Amino acid sequence: MEIVKTIVCKLKVSKKNKEILLKTMELFRDACNYISEIAWKQKCFNPVALHHLTYRKVREKFKLPANLAIEARDRVAKSYKTDKSKLHEFKSLSMDLDDRLFSIKQKEDKFLVSIATIKGRIKCELDIGDYQRQYLENAKPTYATLHYRNKTFFLHIAIDKEIPEPKGSNPVGVDVGIKHLLVASNGFKVKGGKIVKQREHFRKLRQELQKKRTWSAYRKLKQISGKEKRWINTILHQISREFVDSLKEGDVVVMEKLNGIRERVKLRKEQRYFFHSWAFRKLQQYIEYKALERGIPVVYVNAKNTSITCPRCGYVEKRNRRTQSLFRCVKCGFQHNADMVGALNLANKFRSELARAEWGVVNRPNAGMNAMSFCEHHDSPANHSFLTGGG
Ligand SMILES: [Zn+2]
Repeated sequence: MEIVKTIVCKLKVSKKNKEILLKTMELFRDACNYISEIAWKQKCFNPVALHHLTYRKVREKFKLPANLAIEARDRVAKSYKTDKSKLHEFKSLSMDLDDRLFSIKQKEDKFLVSIATIKGRIKCELDIGDYQRQYLENAKPTYATLHYRNKTFFLHIAIDKEIPEPKGSNPVGVDVGIKHLLVASNGFKVKGGKIVKQREHFRKLRQELQKKRTWSAYRKLKQISGKEKRWINTILHQISREFVDSLKEGDVVVMEKLNGIRERVKLRKEQRYFFHSWAFRKLQQYIEYKALERGIPVVYVNAKNTSITCPRCGYVEKRNRRTQSLFRCVKCGFQHNADMVGALNLANKFRSELARAEWGVVNRPNAGMNAMSFCEHHDSPANHSFLTGGG
């Protein structure tokens, strides 16, 4: 099986090449906006029809290489594919490159990229470390995007990667939440406190800047939100890496379909909801990706009732969930951290769905018992050190 991995590489760019690249990217952006206006005015969103409508004019007007003109039209068509209700505007300086527009060559210990521009092809060295190198060695990338951010060029290179065929049968439920960012039924957990604190720091910074109402404060504000996003992204990558490292061969990652979070989290402020759903989705994506790299399958199950079902006796009742963090079954008295209960229930859901599909699993004597024996250890309330910490 193959998956696509994106490697982000900084570019070392000479002063002369910088000018050429920036000019090309500006023209690419302008071409996108030009095509977008025509598409919007004529209500023509089909890539082939849009090509006939715009290709020659784009070549004349913007002097872009043929394949860049095609990439611009593709970007516009793709953008309208998801939303045809308004005119799309392209602001960021970024450019899509297929394998006729860029190529990467290794020269001794250096990696060089050649990129097609309005002034012919230019060459730059990739400014990279061992992490990127291991992926670029012997790779034949066919797609990349070039970005200009914080006065630096970044090339995002898509690389096909061969991975083992995913297989496994032991479910590990993964619950994502605010108090605990991640709790898994194999015992792995990460508190959310660090992220909450750092977000608070960013929130205060933003508030101060918003009060100022100056142009430079506005610019700073935009910078900060980008910084914050990248910071959180890094944390999510670390967490997903550590979690996937905690998995064993034969495990199956079971996560909830994310529309379930909306019901569960019940946040009053829309912006907070937006952040959390974004972060949870990212976290799931990173886990999925890293698990698949190791040949560990990932399944998504409907999370309905997973926060209020007793993992021991199966009793479903709202009152089982005492607080945001405490679960105590009103029927059998089973007590545990609420996030862990969510993770256990996700694992159980996978078992029961599998049981319905396959007789073999039903007949296996101990199916479904592993996670239970794990949580019995924590059954006494005195053991819940993580119930009070974290948030
Ligand atoms: Zn119970």
